[in-house]
Order: sequence, then structure tokens, then C-alpha cells
Amino acid sequence: MNDFTFSQPVRLYFGAGRLGILSEILKELGVTRAIMVCDPFLREKAEELRKKCPMILDIFSDVEPNPQLSGAAKAAALARAHQAEAIIGMGGGSTMDTAKFASAAACSELTPEECYEKVLFPEKHLRVIAIPSTAGTGSEVTQVSVMSREEEKKTMNNPVFMPLAAVIDPELMLTVPPRTTMMTGLDALSHALEGFWSVNHQPICDLYAEEAIRLILGNLERSFRNGADLEARSAMAYAATLAGLAFGQPKTAGCHACSYPLSQDYHLPHGEACAFTLDSFVRINTSPRMEEMLKRAGLTGGSEELVERIRAFKAMAGLRARLRDLGEVDLGKLAADCAAHALMRNNPVKMSEADLRAMFEALA
Ligand code: NAD
Repeated sequence: MNDFTFSQPVRLYFGAGRLGILSEILKELGVTRAIMVCDPFLREKAEELRKKCPMILDIFSDVEPNPQLSGAAKAAALARAHQAEAIIGMGGGSTMDTAKFASAAACSELTPEECYEKVLFPEKHLRVIAIPSTAGTGSEVTQVSVMSREEEKKTMNNPVFMPLAAVIDPELMLTVPPRTTMMTGLDALSHALEGFWSVNHQPICDLYAEEAIRLILGNLERSFRNGADLEARSAMAYAATLAGLAFGQPKTAGCHACSYPLSQDYHLPHGEACAFTLDSFVRINTSPRMEEMLKRAGLTGGSEELVERIRAFKAMAGLRARLRDLGEVDLGKLAADCAAHALMRNNPVKMSEADLRAMFEALA
């Protein structure tokens, strides 16, 4: 076995209805002055929580998917104005990432623009309590914040972004629409698979990955078909957090590398962009180690069965899966941008620009 370093600093509060005791949780964490950053869809829920939690001084809900730096800058200014010592981020990855960026920017001598440009953050930062409302990104347990400025999307990986705690309440996820359920669930599946096959893979993360894959394959279709199925939503919420832990340290690889040009140039939401090449990478990256893990996770047919399952998931939700679904594609630029992405270096099979072009051509 190779040497490895593992840490998991986020305190997890998991359970259906757990948000009902948010005030006690915040007291236990010693939070006295906080602002809440929330998804616009959850504004009413945030107001409701604020009534029960006097330490929540204000709410910021101007967060868009693929969150813009301008939103995080406003959230940082609001936190400063209230002299907050914590930011509670309640929403999907876009909201949690906004809270994380704002928590660091609020303590910086630099402007949020400069923090973003220089990717420079102070060691001191506000504490973040993450409350995921989608079962996908795993942002509640990662030190990643993904921010956009206009069309540019930047993934920033820094210990200052690690939340202090996460409250994972599957009841909050009952309202996620089917298509978003599928896209976010496939994002979680990508995290588990990529953490497992990353060149930096390590044994504890492998265990998380295997269990996340088993749970996603057993519960994604159920939560897609019946959003009110709390048992399936709970399994998916748990799986997404496990998948976050699975990739947090090994990092993601080829599939996520390709998701960035696909989101930036063809406007695919993050989960759909990851799913676009996931089945291709399952075939490219398969190995005896992976086949054994997939069998333990319940796939007797190994990677070929997984390929079929991923394709069926995409078809079920009408996700884009072929090049022709993207409109006019500049294949040369797409392959070059994917090859140049830093995460491509984590892929276990080295992929040249020509290999990537061939992979996309097979999806014509
Ligand atoms: P999202 O946060 O953008 O939300 C997607 C949509 O779902 C939005 O329209 C939102 O209003 C809606 N929504 C969210 N929760 C809902 C609920 N409970 N009920 C009804 N609607 C709800 O989507 P996401 O997939 O969770 O996050 C994607 C973002 O996270 C991307 O920017 C991606 O790059 C980033 N990301 C971050 C990490 C990380 O570790 N920080 C990992 C993966 C992805």
C-alpha cells in the first residue's frame, strides 16, 4: 500500500428534520453573529430559520447558478457590515461556494476582485456552516470554491474554504426538480468515480467512493421519479457527501477537466457537463482494480454495466449526450481546452489532444 495523508475536518450533522434544531447546532458551534447566504428558491425557508435563530443577522439570496464573483463580493460586504464571524451557506454548490469565497474575501485586505484574480486569500477567514440543498457537489466537505467572472469560471482550491460544519438535511432536498436531481446525482457519481481512479487515489477515499457508487446506483432513479421519496433522498444526500469525501483529497480527473469547456462554451450545467463524458471515461479508465470495486458495489457486469446505467440515467432525464446536442461545435478548440485543463493530469490514462478529439468524435 502507498503512503497517504488523510484528514476530514468538517463536523457533520446529518438527518431528516435536522434543520429544525439549527439554533442549537449554531450554539454548540459557538456561532453568535452570522449572515445566511441562500439560494433564491430557499429565501422563505431562510426567513423561517432566522426567526428561530437570533444569531442570523441578515440574509443574502442573490445567488445564481455558476455563481458570479459579484454576488460573493456583495455577501462579503454584508458580512463585514454586520461584523459577522460566520456565514451560513444554504443551497446547492453555487450557494455554498459563494459563502466559502465570501468568508475569505470578507477578511482580506484585498478586494474580492483582487482575491479572485491573484487567487490569494488570508489565513484568517469567517467560519462557514454549509447546508446543502442538492445531493451533488459535496461542497460541504471540500476546500474548493468555484466562482465565475463573466464567462470565466475558476476553481479555487484552498484550505480557507473548508467549512467548519455541515448540516445535511435530506428534507431540504425534497423540492429539487427531477432534471436537477439527475444532473446533481451524476455529478456525485462522477466525484466518486474520479476520486477512485484519480492518480492520487488513496484507501480511505476509495471506501467512500465504493459506498457512494452503491448508494447512487440504488437511489438516483428513485429520487428522480419520486422527489418526495425521503428514503431515496436521504441515501442520495449521504452518498453525495461521501462522494465529496472521496474526491476531496485525490481530486477529480479527465471527466471534470472536460466539464469546464463544456460548461463555459456550450453552457451545460455542471452536473450535465460531467455526465457528458462520464461513460466514455469509465471505458477509458477501467482497470482490474476498478472492476473489482464495481463488483463489490453491486455491479456484477462491471464497467460495461456501469456504462449502460449512466447512459440510461442521461436518457431518462433528457440530458445532452451527443455532440450534435451541443449545436455548432469547434472540436479542435474543445479537445485542446480539455487537454490543457490541469485536472487532466490526474487522469490515470494519459489523454492527448488527439485522444480527446477521438473520444468526442465517437459521441458525434
Ligand atoms: P446549483 O447550486 O447551481 O443549483 C441548481 C438549481 O437548483 C438552481 O436553479 C437552484 O435554485 C435549484 N435548487 C437548489 N436547491 C433546491 C431545492 N432544494 N429545491 C428546488 N430547487 C433547488 O447546483 P449544484 O449542482 O448544486 O451546484 C453547482 C455548482 O457547484 C457549480 O458552480 C459547480 O462548479 C460547483 N461545484 C462545486 C464543488 C465544490 O467542491 N465546491 C464541487 C462540484 C461542483
